[in-house]
Amino acid sequence: MRQIAVLGATGSIGRSTLDVIARHPDRYQAAVLAAHRSVDEMEALCREHTPRYAVMSHPNAAEALGEKLRDIPTQVLSGADSLDELVTDPAVHSVVAGIVGFAGLRSALSAARAGKHILLANKEALVSAGGLFMETVRSGGATLLPVDSEHNAMHQCLPTMSDGRPDMTNVEKIILTASGGPFRGRSRAALDNVTPEEACAHPNWSMGQKISVDSATLANKGLELAEACWLFDRHPDQIEIVVHPQSIVHSMIRYRDGSVLAQLGQPDMRTPIAYCLAWPDRIDAGVAPLDIVAAGKLDFEAPDLAAFPCLALAQSAITRPGGMCAFSAANEVAVAAFLAGDIRFTDIDGVIASVLQSINLVEPDTLDAVQRLDADAREAAINCVTLMATPKTQS
Ligand code: NDP
Ligand code: MG
Repeated sequence: MRQIAVLGATGSIGRSTLDVIARHPDRYQAAVLAAHRSVDEMEALCREHTPRYAVMSHPNAAEALGEKLRDIPTQVLSGADSLDELVTDPAVHSVVAGIVGFAGLRSALSAARAGKHILLANKEALVSAGGLFMETVRSGGATLLPVDSEHNAMHQCLPTMSDGRPDMTNVEKIILTASGGPFRGRSRAALDNVTPEEACAHPNWSMGQKISVDSATLANKGLELAEACWLFDRHPDQIEIVVHPQSIVHSMIRYRDGSVLAQLGQPDMRTPIAYCLAWPDRIDAGVAPLDIVAAGKLDFEAPDLAAFPCLALAQSAITRPGGMCAFSAANEVAVAAFLAGDIRFTDIDGVIASVLQSINLVEPDTLDAVQRLDADAREAAINCVTLMATPKTQS
């Protein structure tokens, strides 16, 4: 019986993971659940899965949850130190890094240091601290398995070593697919007045708000470009980005003999999650079989960098030391401001561009340095958002 720590349990990745775990009570136990402050959602999950521990990063939320869960044996803890202790607990076999954004970095690093089996969904941690993270995985003897559907597809199309590391010997190119998001085909001018609700209505995937907006701006594909470079030890020009609106082909690997291997499947995160949970075995994920005839045409086209400049900004930032750490921090601030109604959709790339121009970029090689660069980029982004923000009408 493997004990699993699900970080970001109340989110889209966390819930999909718990759904797969619940289908295999003989193999997996959700031993630790962690979230930020969604107390009612966490209470329901704890009653359903009875983990040994529940951790809320917000102290008031932990207190409220503790009150509600007096009648079940789950112990409620609070804060980052408690989470560190639990992810490094020798009884925990696998850690699902499903916290959204930079906030997930510390616990992901702790799991790497403790040599855990890491199911990595939190791409922002890898993008911001790639060198440090990959080195910690190596020195800690951890097994790193990508949950992100594209990187999971790449992993499935590559030979792997016993510790999960991919063998890149004969690979010529990685082909990273993108759905194009809800606004694919629109001109830049037609994006000015789109609302958060429209941006979060992804045509194929059901996801958290932040990654949904990232998919709509194509910033997500920029983050995923950096993610692929770190996971598969590639230079950005060894990765081609292709828009594939049906989200059936999740990515491809081209080998030196001309063969292209692709992984296909329903756009349902339970498939990559089940792959990572069971690797190198396979388990039922609860996903409906792919009907390739019903899927019909599979289209591929080049991304529109003029309408969606976030991707071009990432392609440039990735060549600069610390560039993607600043990109990711600025993007987080800009997306939060867009979701709050403070800036327009088309202001998001402006915030990122301004931050990349204004701050002093250096390659961050320690956790302190990563945190400093992230904080500098956030401060610059907040200043930029304040200048752009449309004053709200007074009530
Ligand atoms: P959601 O917004 O649905 O969930 C986020 C989770 O993180 C919630 O459990 C939330 O807790 C928790 N959280 C937020 N802030 C903190 C914090 N400061 N400390 C601790 N926990 C926190 O996000 P998703 O599940 O969509 O995404 C999670 C990660 O997975 C992201 O990095 C995303 O890029 C990646 N990913 C997601 C995919 C998807 O299909 N959703 C696909 C590929 C990658 P609370 O509810 O209490 O706020
Ligand atoms: Mg993805």
